[in-house]
Amino acid sequence: MDGSAIGRQAVVASHFPHFGEENCLRGWNGSGTIFFSGCNLRCVFCQNFGISWQLHGQPVTPKRLAAMMLQLQDRGCHNINFVTPEHVVPQILQALPTAIDGGLAHRGLLVRHLVMPGMLDETREILRFVAAELGTGTYVDLMAQYHPAGLVGRNQRDGYHEIDRQLARDEYELAARFADEFGLTRLDRRSRASGLQLPAAPAPAGT
Ligand code: SF4
Repeated sequence: MDGSAIGRQAVVASHFPHFGEENCLRGWNGSGTIFFSGCNLRCVFCQNFGISWQLHGQPVTPKRLAAMMLQLQDRGCHNINFVTPEHVVPQILQALPTAIDGGLAHRGLLVRHLVMPGMLDETREILRFVAAELGTGTYVDLMAQYHPAGLVGRNQRDGYHEIDRQLARDEYELAARFADEFGLTRLDRRSRASGLQLPAAPAPAGT
């Protein structure tokens, strides 16, 4: 089904305590994650292609969505973590009053940036913006896990070859150096450690 085909109700692909998130989000009981299906942007490389381009999951009423949030809270999750919520903001806003009635609220800002192979100029510009406009104390997760997905590498003619490979370690190190250069000191440590484990040279396409 077309990923832009979200109607009156949001579609939730899954909801569960997520232990793969940054330490400050997952804590010891997990981050209360709700994955929404569909997305307006339709990036060819989408790392969640199966739920952003293709609809999977159940349409939810505001009451059901609020119940999911409260269920995650009851399971001890430290926060509610909406994944790809931009196209269903009205539906979330409708659910929030019910959830807040039984909800704890916390605040904070964490910026995630998926470092893309061969696009370090863009990483540099994004980090410059974050440091200048949001402050050098902003918590930044430089994500190292990019892998060819979605339409990338599917065929020879239109395979988006420039991003048909994993990130290389030296690219990740360069991204981290940019962060240092702009004075961003709060980099997610787990992502940094996984970035430093990447292969040193770009892996050949298709591996
Ligand atoms: S990468 Fe993000 S913005 Fe792009 S299609 Fe996937 S979920 Fe949407």
